[in-house]
Amino acid sequence: MASRVCLVHYHEVGLKGKNRAHFERILIDSIKAACAAFSLASCTRISGHILVTFSVPGEAERAFDVIRRVPGVARVSLAFHTNRDPDEYCRAAVSALREAGEFESFKVAAKRSNTDYALGSLELNAQVGEVLCGAFPQKRVQMHHPDVVVHVLVVQGSVYVYARSERGVGGLPVGSAGKVVTLLSSGIDSPVATWLLSRRGAVCVPVHFSGRPQTADTSEYLCQDIIRALAPSVQIGRLYVVPFGDAQREISIKCPGKLRVIMYRRIMYAVAERIARIEGAKAIVTGESLGQVASQTLENIAAVNEVVSLPVLRPLIGSDKQEIIERAEQIGTYDISCETAPDCCTLFMPRAPETHARIDEVHEAWEAFDHDEMIDRLVASVEYVDFESASYRRPRRFRERHEELAPAPFAERRPREDEPSS
Ligand code: ATP
Ligand code: MG
Repeated sequence: MASRVCLVHYHEVGLKGKNRAHFERILIDSIKAACAAFSLASCTRISGHILVTFSVPGEAERAFDVIRRVPGVARVSLAFHTNRDPDEYCRAAVSALREAGEFESFKVAAKRSNTDYALGSLELNAQVGEVLCGAFPQKRVQMHHPDVVVHVLVVQGSVYVYARSERGVGGLPVGSAGKVVTLLSSGIDSPVATWLLSRRGAVCVPVHFSGRPQTADTSEYLCQDIIRALAPSVQIGRLYVVPFGDAQREISIKCPGKLRVIMYRRIMYAVAERIARIEGAKAIVTGESLGQVASQTLENIAAVNEVVSLPVLRPLIGSDKQEIIERAEQIGTYDISCETAPDCCTLFMPRAPETHARIDEVHEAWEAFDHDEMIDRLVASVEYVDFESASYRRPRRFRERHEELAPAPFAERRPREDEPSS
Protein backbone atom coordinates (compact mmCIF):
# COMPACT_ATOMS: atom_id res chain seq x y z
CA MET A 1 0.00 0.00 0.00
CA ALA A 2 1.16 3.54 -0.72
CA SER A 3 2.58 5.50 2.19
CA ARG A 4 2.37 9.30 2.60
CA VAL A 5 5.44 11.51 2.38
CA CYS A 6 6.19 15.22 2.05
CA LEU A 7 8.11 16.31 -1.03
CA VAL A 8 9.81 19.65 -0.52
CA HIS A 9 10.55 21.89 -3.50
CA TYR A 10 13.10 24.68 -3.24
CA HIS A 11 13.95 27.46 -5.68
CA GLU A 12 16.50 29.87 -4.36
CA VAL A 13 18.47 27.13 -2.69
CA GLY A 14 18.77 25.48 -6.06
CA LEU A 15 20.14 28.67 -7.59
CA LYS A 16 23.22 28.80 -5.44
CA GLY A 17 25.59 27.08 -7.86
CA LYS A 18 28.57 25.53 -6.14
CA ASN A 19 27.07 26.24 -2.72
CA ARG A 20 24.03 24.19 -3.57
CA ALA A 21 25.03 21.13 -1.54
CA HIS A 22 25.78 23.33 1.46
CA PHE A 23 22.41 25.09 1.23
CA GLU A 24 20.60 21.79 0.81
CA ARG A 25 22.28 20.44 3.93
CA ILE A 26 21.16 23.48 5.94
CA LEU A 27 17.64 23.16 4.59
CA ILE A 28 17.56 19.46 5.48
CA ASP A 29 18.74 20.29 9.02
CA SER A 30 16.04 23.00 9.34
CA ILE A 31 13.31 20.60 8.21
CA LYS A 32 14.56 17.91 10.59
CA ALA A 33 14.54 20.40 13.47
CA ALA A 34 11.06 21.67 12.56
CA CYS A 35 9.78 18.07 12.52
CA ALA A 36 11.38 17.08 15.83
CA ALA A 37 7.96 16.51 17.40
CA PHE A 38 7.04 14.00 14.67
CA SER A 39 8.32 10.47 14.15
CA LEU A 40 10.61 11.49 11.30
CA ALA A 41 12.00 8.44 9.50
CA SER A 42 14.19 10.18 6.91
CA CYS A 43 14.87 13.56 5.32
CA THR A 44 17.00 13.23 2.20
CA ARG A 45 17.59 14.69 -1.23
CA ILE A 46 16.00 12.96 -4.21
CA SER A 47 16.12 14.28 -7.75
CA GLY A 48 15.88 18.01 -7.04
CA HIS A 49 13.53 17.66 -4.06
CA ILE A 50 13.85 16.86 -0.39
CA LEU A 51 11.91 13.79 0.61
CA VAL A 52 10.55 13.68 4.17
CA THR A 53 9.19 10.38 5.46
CA PHE A 54 7.57 9.45 8.77
CA SER A 55 7.24 6.18 10.62
CA VAL A 56 3.74 6.81 12.01
CA PRO A 57 0.76 6.99 9.60
CA GLY A 58 -0.94 10.40 9.50
CA GLU A 59 2.16 12.38 10.41
CA ALA A 60 3.05 13.48 6.87
CA GLU A 61 -0.37 15.15 6.74
CA ARG A 62 0.22 16.87 10.08
CA ALA A 63 3.83 17.92 9.36
CA PHE A 64 2.82 19.40 5.98
CA ASP A 65 1.87 22.81 7.46
CA VAL A 66 4.97 22.95 9.67
CA ILE A 67 7.28 22.25 6.73
CA ARG A 68 5.57 24.90 4.58
CA ARG A 69 6.65 27.53 7.09
CA VAL A 70 10.34 26.59 7.10
CA PRO A 71 12.49 29.28 5.40
CA GLY A 72 13.94 27.97 2.15
CA VAL A 73 10.87 25.85 1.35
CA ALA A 74 9.26 27.11 -1.86
CA ARG A 75 6.54 24.46 -2.00
CA VAL A 76 5.48 21.25 -0.27
CA SER A 77 3.55 18.41 -1.82
CA LEU A 78 1.78 15.72 0.13
CA ALA A 79 2.61 12.66 -1.98
CA PHE A 80 1.86 8.96 -2.12
CA HIS A 81 4.97 6.82 -2.26
CA THR A 82 4.61 3.61 -4.30
CA ASN A 83 6.74 1.03 -6.04
CA ARG A 84 7.27 1.23 -9.78
CA ASP A 85 4.17 -0.84 -10.26
CA PRO A 86 1.57 0.68 -12.62
CA ASP A 87 -1.32 -0.72 -10.57
CA GLU A 88 0.06 0.87 -7.43
CA TYR A 89 0.87 4.31 -8.84
CA CYS A 90 -2.36 4.52 -10.83
CA ARG A 91 -4.33 3.69 -7.67
CA ALA A 92 -2.35 6.39 -5.85
CA ALA A 93 -3.24 8.85 -8.63
CA VAL A 94 -6.95 8.11 -8.09
CA SER A 95 -6.54 8.71 -4.33
CA ALA A 96 -4.58 11.92 -4.97
CA LEU A 97 -7.29 13.29 -7.27
CA ARG A 98 -10.02 12.21 -4.84
CA GLU A 99 -8.52 14.34 -2.06
CA ALA A 100 -8.25 17.39 -4.34
CA GLY A 101 -11.71 18.61 -3.28
CA GLU A 102 -14.03 20.37 -5.74
CA PHE A 103 -12.73 20.43 -9.31
CA GLU A 104 -13.95 20.24 -12.89
CA SER A 105 -10.79 19.73 -14.93
CA PHE A 106 -7.46 17.99 -14.40
CA LYS A 107 -4.33 16.83 -16.14
CA VAL A 108 -1.47 14.46 -15.41
CA ALA A 109 2.10 15.77 -15.35
CA ALA A 110 4.51 12.84 -15.25
CA LYS A 111 8.27 13.09 -15.01
CA ARG A 112 10.84 10.34 -15.25
CA SER A 113 14.10 11.25 -13.60
CA ASN A 114 15.74 7.92 -14.47
CA THR A 115 15.78 6.62 -18.01
CA ASP A 116 15.90 3.07 -16.65
CA TYR A 117 12.10 3.01 -16.50
CA ALA A 118 10.46 1.63 -19.63
CA LEU A 119 7.82 4.36 -20.02
CA GLY A 120 8.70 7.95 -20.89
CA SER A 121 6.76 10.91 -19.48
CA LEU A 122 4.27 11.09 -22.39
CA GLU A 123 3.46 7.41 -22.06
CA LEU A 124 3.13 7.76 -18.30
CA ASN A 125 0.73 10.69 -18.80
CA ALA A 126 -1.40 8.57 -21.10
CA GLN A 127 -1.30 5.52 -18.81
CA VAL A 128 -2.26 7.38 -15.63
CA GLY A 129 -4.67 9.70 -17.50
CA GLU A 130 -6.64 6.75 -18.83
CA VAL A 131 -7.12 5.31 -15.34
CA LEU A 132 -8.19 8.72 -14.00
CA CYS A 133 -10.67 9.26 -16.83
CA GLY A 134 -12.18 5.88 -15.96
CA ALA A 135 -12.40 6.73 -12.26
CA PHE A 136 -13.73 10.28 -12.79
CA PRO A 137 -15.94 10.08 -15.89
CA GLN A 138 -17.71 13.41 -15.12
CA LYS A 139 -14.47 15.39 -15.12
CA ARG A 140 -12.60 16.63 -18.15
CA VAL A 141 -8.95 16.61 -19.08
CA GLN A 142 -7.62 20.11 -19.76
CA MET A 143 -4.03 20.88 -20.71
CA HIS A 144 -4.05 24.64 -20.01
CA HIS A 145 -4.89 25.87 -16.52
CA PRO A 146 -6.68 22.76 -15.24
CA ASP A 147 -8.17 22.94 -11.73
CA VAL A 148 -5.94 20.10 -10.53
CA VAL A 149 -2.61 18.68 -11.71
CA VAL A 150 -1.78 15.11 -10.71
CA HIS A 151 1.99 14.83 -10.63
CA VAL A 152 3.72 11.50 -11.12
CA LEU A 153 7.44 11.48 -10.40
CA VAL A 154 9.34 8.31 -11.27
CA VAL A 155 12.74 8.05 -9.60
CA GLN A 156 15.10 5.17 -8.96
CA GLY A 157 13.09 2.36 -7.39
CA SER A 158 10.05 4.51 -6.45
CA VAL A 159 7.18 6.61 -7.71
CA TYR A 160 5.74 9.69 -5.98
CA VAL A 161 2.22 10.80 -6.86
CA TYR A 162 0.58 13.98 -5.65
CA ALA A 163 -2.11 16.56 -6.34
CA ARG A 164 -2.06 18.41 -3.04
CA SER A 165 0.75 20.95 -3.23
CA GLU A 166 1.02 24.32 -1.52
CA ARG A 167 3.40 27.24 -1.51
CA GLY A 168 5.95 27.49 1.25
CA VAL A 169 7.34 30.71 2.71
CA GLY A 170 10.28 30.69 0.29
CA GLY A 171 13.53 32.49 1.09
CA LEU A 172 16.69 30.78 2.29
CA PRO A 173 17.31 28.26 5.06
CA VAL A 174 18.16 29.73 8.46
CA GLY A 175 21.91 29.61 8.97
CA SER A 176 22.85 30.33 5.37
CA ALA A 177 23.27 34.10 5.87
CA GLY A 178 25.14 34.61 9.17
CA LYS A 179 23.91 36.05 12.45
CA VAL A 180 22.05 39.27 13.28
CA VAL A 181 20.87 40.83 16.51
CA THR A 182 17.25 41.95 16.33
CA LEU A 183 15.70 44.55 18.61
CA LEU A 184 12.56 42.75 19.75
CA SER A 185 9.82 44.60 21.59
CA SER A 186 6.57 42.79 22.23
CA GLY A 187 4.90 45.08 19.66
CA ILE A 188 3.61 44.09 16.24
CA ASP A 189 6.50 45.22 14.03
CA SER A 190 9.70 43.79 15.45
CA PRO A 191 8.55 40.12 15.46
CA VAL A 192 7.76 40.57 11.75
CA ALA A 193 11.18 42.15 11.12
CA THR A 194 12.80 39.22 12.94
CA TRP A 195 10.85 36.71 10.89
CA LEU A 196 11.76 38.47 7.62
CA LEU A 197 15.48 38.25 8.41
CA SER A 198 15.08 34.59 9.39
CA ARG A 199 13.40 34.02 6.06
CA ARG A 200 16.46 35.43 4.32
CA GLY A 201 18.61 32.85 6.07
CA ALA A 202 19.92 34.88 9.04
CA VAL A 203 20.20 33.39 12.51
CA CYS A 204 18.33 35.97 14.62
CA VAL A 205 19.37 36.73 18.18
CA PRO A 206 16.70 38.98 19.73
CA VAL A 207 17.45 41.55 22.41
CA HIS A 208 14.55 42.88 24.47
CA PHE A 209 14.68 45.98 26.66
CA SER A 210 12.41 45.54 29.63
CA GLY A 211 11.16 48.33 31.89
CA ARG A 212 12.18 46.23 34.90
CA PRO A 213 12.62 47.09 37.77
CA GLN A 214 10.41 50.15 37.12
CA THR A 215 7.71 47.98 35.50
CA ALA A 216 6.66 44.33 35.74
CA ASP A 217 8.34 41.72 33.54
CA THR A 218 5.22 40.94 31.44
CA SER A 219 6.78 42.13 28.17
CA GLU A 220 9.66 39.65 28.65
CA TYR A 221 7.19 36.77 28.79
CA LEU A 222 5.38 38.10 25.71
CA CYS A 223 8.72 38.08 23.86
CA GLN A 224 9.21 34.47 24.91
CA ASP A 225 5.70 33.68 23.63
CA ILE A 226 6.54 35.36 20.33
CA ILE A 227 9.64 33.17 19.99
CA ARG A 228 7.56 30.08 20.74
CA ALA A 229 4.95 31.15 18.18
CA LEU A 230 7.62 31.31 15.44
CA ALA A 231 8.82 27.79 16.31
CA PRO A 232 9.21 25.07 15.24
CA SER A 233 9.51 26.34 11.65
CA VAL A 234 11.69 29.32 12.65
CA GLN A 235 13.78 28.51 15.70
CA ILE A 236 15.38 31.20 17.81
CA GLY A 237 18.03 29.95 20.21
CA ARG A 238 18.48 32.77 22.68
CA LEU A 239 16.60 35.87 23.88
CA TYR A 240 18.66 38.53 25.62
CA VAL A 241 16.82 40.70 28.13
CA VAL A 242 18.16 44.02 29.32
CA PRO A 243 16.53 45.46 32.48
CA PHE A 244 16.36 49.05 31.29
CA GLY A 245 13.96 50.79 33.72
CA ASP A 246 16.55 52.37 36.03
CA ALA A 247 18.61 53.67 33.12
CA GLN A 248 15.49 55.25 31.64
CA ARG A 249 14.73 56.87 34.95
CA GLU A 250 18.23 58.37 35.05
CA ILE A 251 17.90 59.66 31.48
CA SER A 252 14.48 61.12 32.24
CA ILE A 253 15.97 63.10 35.12
CA LYS A 254 19.09 64.30 33.31
CA CYS A 255 17.98 64.99 29.74
CA PRO A 256 15.41 67.37 28.22
CA GLY A 257 12.01 65.68 28.01
CA LYS A 258 11.62 65.96 24.25
CA LEU A 259 14.96 64.17 23.62
CA ARG A 260 14.43 61.32 26.06
CA VAL A 261 13.20 58.84 23.49
CA ILE A 262 16.23 59.48 21.30
CA MET A 263 18.54 58.97 24.30
CA TYR A 264 16.78 55.70 25.21
CA ARG A 265 17.16 54.50 21.68
CA ARG A 266 20.83 55.49 21.39
CA ILE A 267 21.52 53.46 24.53
CA MET A 268 19.47 50.54 23.18
CA TYR A 269 21.38 50.52 19.90
CA ALA A 270 24.75 50.76 21.68
CA VAL A 271 23.93 47.88 24.01
CA ALA A 272 22.59 45.82 21.10
CA GLU A 273 25.83 46.45 19.21
CA ARG A 274 27.89 45.21 22.16
CA ILE A 275 25.77 42.06 22.33
CA ALA A 276 26.16 41.67 18.56
CA ARG A 277 29.95 41.73 18.92
CA ILE A 278 29.83 39.11 21.66
CA GLU A 279 27.60 36.97 19.48
CA GLY A 280 29.58 37.49 16.29
CA ALA A 281 26.46 39.04 14.71
CA LYS A 282 27.08 41.26 11.71
CA ALA A 283 24.07 43.58 11.78
CA ILE A 284 21.34 45.03 14.00
CA VAL A 285 17.73 44.68 12.88
CA THR A 286 14.78 46.84 13.94
CA GLY A 287 11.07 46.94 13.12
CA GLU A 288 11.12 50.64 12.26
CA SER A 289 8.83 51.91 9.52
CA LEU A 290 9.31 55.40 8.17
CA GLY A 291 7.13 58.00 9.86
CA GLN A 292 5.12 55.46 11.86
CA VAL A 293 5.84 57.08 15.24
CA ALA A 294 7.81 60.09 16.45
CA SER A 295 11.09 58.23 16.75
CA GLN A 296 10.91 56.98 13.18
CA THR A 297 11.45 60.19 11.22
CA LEU A 298 14.55 60.45 9.03
CA GLU A 299 16.16 62.97 11.41
CA ASN A 300 15.57 60.77 14.44
CA ILE A 301 16.73 57.61 12.71
CA ALA A 302 19.97 59.43 11.85
CA ALA A 303 20.32 60.75 15.42
CA VAL A 304 20.10 57.21 16.79
CA ASN A 305 22.06 55.47 14.08
CA GLU A 306 25.28 57.39 14.68
CA VAL A 307 26.11 55.57 17.93
CA VAL A 308 26.73 52.26 16.18
CA SER A 309 29.09 51.15 13.44
CA LEU A 310 27.39 47.86 12.52
CA PRO A 311 24.84 48.11 9.71
CA VAL A 312 21.27 48.65 10.97
CA LEU A 313 18.75 46.77 8.85
CA ARG A 314 15.14 47.94 8.80
CA PRO A 315 13.22 45.44 6.71
CA LEU A 316 9.88 47.21 7.33
CA ILE A 317 11.01 50.74 6.54
CA GLY A 318 8.69 51.04 3.52
CA SER A 319 5.85 48.87 4.78
CA ASP A 320 2.39 50.00 5.66
CA LYS A 321 0.99 49.10 9.07
CA GLN A 322 -1.76 47.00 7.48
CA GLU A 323 0.78 44.93 5.54
CA ILE A 324 2.77 44.39 8.71
CA ILE A 325 -0.36 43.31 10.59
CA GLU A 326 -1.24 40.81 7.86
CA ARG A 327 2.22 39.31 8.02
CA ALA A 328 2.08 39.21 11.84
CA GLU A 329 -1.20 37.29 11.58
CA GLN A 330 0.30 34.88 9.08
CA ILE A 331 3.34 34.11 11.23
CA GLY A 332 1.23 33.76 14.38
CA THR A 333 2.58 36.66 16.46
CA TYR A 334 -0.21 39.21 16.05
CA ASP A 335 -2.46 38.13 18.92
CA ILE A 336 0.49 38.01 21.32
CA SER A 337 1.62 41.48 20.24
CA CYS A 338 -1.88 42.85 20.87
CA GLU A 339 -1.63 41.99 24.55
CA THR A 340 -0.67 45.12 26.39
CA ALA A 341 2.37 45.04 28.58
CA PRO A 342 4.34 47.92 29.99
CA ASP A 343 7.88 47.84 28.62
CA CYS A 344 10.47 50.49 28.19
CA CYS A 345 8.38 52.03 25.38
CA THR A 346 5.70 53.10 27.82
CA LEU A 347 8.01 54.15 30.62
CA PHE A 348 8.97 57.77 31.32
CA MET A 349 7.55 58.93 28.01
CA PRO A 350 7.62 62.68 27.41
CA ARG A 351 4.36 64.40 26.54
CA ALA A 352 5.79 65.80 23.30
CA PRO A 353 8.73 63.82 21.93
CA GLU A 354 10.98 65.51 19.40
CA THR A 355 10.12 64.48 15.85
CA HIS A 356 12.93 66.28 14.01
CA ALA A 357 15.89 66.23 16.34
CA ARG A 358 18.72 68.71 15.84
CA ILE A 359 21.97 66.85 16.06
CA ASP A 360 23.75 69.49 18.21
CA GLU A 361 20.94 69.26 20.80
CA VAL A 362 21.13 65.48 20.66
CA HIS A 363 24.89 65.59 21.36
CA GLU A 364 24.36 68.01 24.24
CA ALA A 365 21.74 65.74 25.83
CA TRP A 366 24.02 62.71 25.28
CA GLU A 367 26.80 64.41 27.24
CA ALA A 368 24.41 65.25 30.09
CA PHE A 369 24.79 61.74 31.56
CA ASP A 370 27.57 59.17 31.72
CA HIS A 371 26.45 57.15 28.70
CA ASP A 372 29.56 54.96 28.53
CA GLU A 373 29.17 53.89 32.14
CA MET A 374 25.46 53.27 31.53
CA ILE A 375 26.16 51.08 28.48
CA ASP A 376 28.77 49.07 30.44
CA ARG A 377 26.37 48.65 33.34
CA LEU A 378 23.54 47.50 31.09
CA VAL A 379 25.74 45.03 29.19
CA ALA A 380 26.95 43.63 32.51
CA SER A 381 23.36 43.16 33.67
CA VAL A 382 22.14 41.41 30.52
CA GLU A 383 20.15 38.22 31.13
CA TYR A 384 19.21 35.55 28.64
CA VAL A 385 16.76 32.72 28.09
CA ASP A 386 17.66 29.79 25.85
CA PHE A 387 15.36 27.90 23.49
CA GLU A 388 15.66 24.78 21.37
CA SER A 389 17.30 25.70 18.06
CA ALA A 390 19.21 23.78 15.42
CA SER A 391 20.92 26.82 13.90
CA TYR A 392 21.95 29.03 16.85
CA ARG A 393 25.51 28.63 18.20
CA ARG A 394 26.01 30.08 21.67
CA PRO A 395 29.05 32.27 22.29
CA ARG A 396 31.34 30.22 24.50
CA ARG A 397 31.73 32.26 27.62
CA PHE A 398 29.32 35.14 27.62
CA ARG A 399 30.54 37.13 30.62
CA GLU A 400 34.27 36.82 29.91
CA ARG A 401 33.85 37.48 26.23
CA HIS A 402 31.94 40.65 26.85
CA GLU A 403 34.93 42.09 28.76
CA GLU A 404 37.27 40.94 26.10
CA LEU A 405 35.23 42.24 23.18
CA ALA A 406 33.98 45.47 24.68
CA PRO A 407 34.66 48.16 22.09
CA ALA A 408 36.30 51.43 23.07
CA PRO A 409 33.80 53.85 24.63
CA PHE A 410 31.89 55.76 21.99
CA ALA A 411 33.62 59.06 22.69
CA GLU A 412 37.02 57.51 21.99
CA ARG A 413 35.94 55.42 19.05
CA ARG A 414 37.75 56.30 15.88
CA PRO A 415 35.32 57.85 13.37
CA ARG A 416 34.47 55.64 10.44
CA GLU A 417 35.74 56.76 7.06
CA ASP A 418 32.29 57.93 6.00
CA GLU A 419 31.65 59.69 9.31
CA PRO A 420 32.32 63.44 9.48
CA SER A 421 34.82 64.21 12.25
CA SER A 422 33.35 66.64 14.74
P1 ATP B 1 7.19 47.53 17.53
O1 ATP B 1 5.79 47.25 17.12
O2 ATP B 1 8.18 46.59 16.93
O3 ATP B 1 7.34 47.72 19.02
P2 ATP B 1 6.82 50.33 17.20
O4 ATP B 1 6.00 50.71 16.05
O5 ATP B 1 6.16 50.28 18.54
O6 ATP B 1 7.55 48.94 16.90
P3 ATP B 1 8.98 51.84 18.34
O7 ATP B 1 8.46 51.62 19.70
O8 ATP B 1 9.46 53.19 17.93
O9 ATP B 1 7.99 51.39 17.21
O10 ATP B 1 10.17 50.86 18.09
C1 ATP B 1 10.86 50.82 16.89
C2 ATP B 1 11.75 49.59 16.93
O11 ATP B 1 12.67 49.69 18.03
C3 ATP B 1 11.00 48.30 17.20
O12 ATP B 1 10.45 47.76 16.03
C4 ATP B 1 12.07 47.44 17.78
O13 ATP B 1 12.91 46.93 16.77
C5 ATP B 1 12.86 48.43 18.63
N1 ATP B 1 12.31 48.44 20.00
C6 ATP B 1 11.36 49.24 20.51
N2 ATP B 1 11.13 48.92 21.78
C7 ATP B 1 11.94 47.91 22.11
C8 ATP B 1 12.17 47.13 23.28
N3 ATP B 1 11.49 47.33 24.40
N4 ATP B 1 13.11 46.17 23.23
C9 ATP B 1 13.80 45.94 22.09
N5 ATP B 1 13.62 46.61 20.97
C10 ATP B 1 12.71 47.59 20.96
MG1 MG C 1 7.00 49.49 20.33
